[in-house]
Amino acid sequence: LQDNYDLIVIGSGGAGLTAAIQAHELGLKPVILEKMSKIGGNTTRASSGMNAAETDVQLNHHIVDSFEEFYADTFKGGGQQNNQELLKYFTEHSALAIDWLADHQIVLDELTITGGMSTMRTHRPSSMAPIGGFLVSELLKQVATENIPLYTDVKVNELMLNDAHQISGVKVTTANGDRELTAKAVVLATGGFGANQALLTKYRADLKGYNTTNQPGATGDGIELAQAIGAKLVDMDQVQVHPTVQQDTDHAYLIGEAVRGEGAILVNQSGARFVNELDTRKNVTAAIDELGGTGAWLIFDRGIRDRVKAVEFYDSIGLVKTADTVADLATTTKLDAATLTSTVANWNQAVADQNDAEFGRSTGMDRDIQHGPFYSIHIAPAVHYTMGGVAINHLTQVLTAQDQVINGLFAAGEVVGGLHGNNRIGGNSIAETVIFGRQAGQQVFKYLQQ
Ligand code: ADP
Repeated sequence: LQDNYDLIVIGSGGAGLTAAIQAHELGLKPVILEKMSKIGGNTTRASSGMNAAETDVQLNHHIVDSFEEFYADTFKGGGQQNNQELLKYFTEHSALAIDWLADHQIVLDELTITGGMSTMRTHRPSSMAPIGGFLVSELLKQVATENIPLYTDVKVNELMLNDAHQISGVKVTTANGDRELTAKAVVLATGGFGANQALLTKYRADLKGYNTTNQPGATGDGIELAQAIGAKLVDMDQVQVHPTVQQDTDHAYLIGEAVRGEGAILVNQSGARFVNELDTRKNVTAAIDELGGTGAWLIFDRGIRDRVKAVEFYDSIGLVKTADTVADLATTTKLDAATLTSTVANWNQAVADQNDAEFGRSTGMDRDIQHGPFYSIHIAPAVHYTMGGVAINHLTQVLTAQDQVINGLFAAGEVVGGLHGNNRIGGNSIAETVIFGRQAGQQVFKYLQQ
């Protein structure tokens, strides 16, 4: 660890890795600091994919999409509370981010769909591997190729300012004690606070006791570091509870939206559907909570399972129940066999008619549920994503309460608030890390040129 860098990137998730690579490719000398022993943050846990519109990948799949529709879906899904300056930059730079990844041999040439999106714009690798682990390991290859220094077990405790109120460095704790590092610019890429019960319940008392899908380091450090030097916080009470989390063991496993996107349905304890499974996370969560604490069950077949590689993993650790017929599946899952059988038959008819008269589902209807074996996964909602965080402008510059720029401080990824409004759409978090991570790297370069 040297005493001085051009740029200090705090956090090794998608946003931090992307910002560092972009800055390095512009000729800067960045360092990436990660407080945990494990690299990748919550990004490694992302499953569905990366949303983008007007991409060549979409055209190859005969999907004609537009920035306007991407904007409209995200705005609607976010309760029209999204920061529109950020949302405009986000949607209009999404295709460039897909291209930038491809230029770095990170190819996302398959498509799926997530709840609240009107078309297939969730890009993922053709191996169908979950996006997060794939993206982090591929970005790390790039970090290694470019010899960008990355240190784990180094925690940033304080942002330092000079007399002109410009960023001048950070104070860190390492295994060998405390140190100060100097740099004229810092990118906060520290992620959210879903694993910080105290901070969560400070803004949302109703979330006391909820499980979380987050890694233990998601404690909102960046939010507190920035606030200590005058940054404005926005939307701190907007917390996403993910509807489909398997939590019958001591670890909460998020069952990715791709399972529903590829065709799974959700049923209640008696084996009946109760919601449009691809409504927004907020609405699906509310519908499951209304079942009165039983949780719900994802039901799918071999054809759907083959489209979502992560199910193999869930199965290998015992989270999936399997049977040769739908009736047997109901029995092993302790659902009503007759009800589940007719639920699946009705659903298959809806897929054939492309019309879900009961719940108005209109996406994720490309395949029905009739190719055994059949599978079920028990799920319930858990804290998943914090929409609130530090305020930035579309240049990723961190803002004060008076909307003044804090010179030298940039932020990208989940640490930022505002982009998602009151509900983040699946596939938008990975997109946010790459789109705004790139932007942060570019804007730091510009700032340091002045
Ligand atoms: P994003 O998706 O926005 O990139 P992630 O959750 O994937 O966010 O990554 C954020 C990373 O930042 C995590 O690995 C987390 O452990 C790390 N981090 C959080 N706070 C600090 C800190 N104070 N010092 C160093 N690293 C931190």
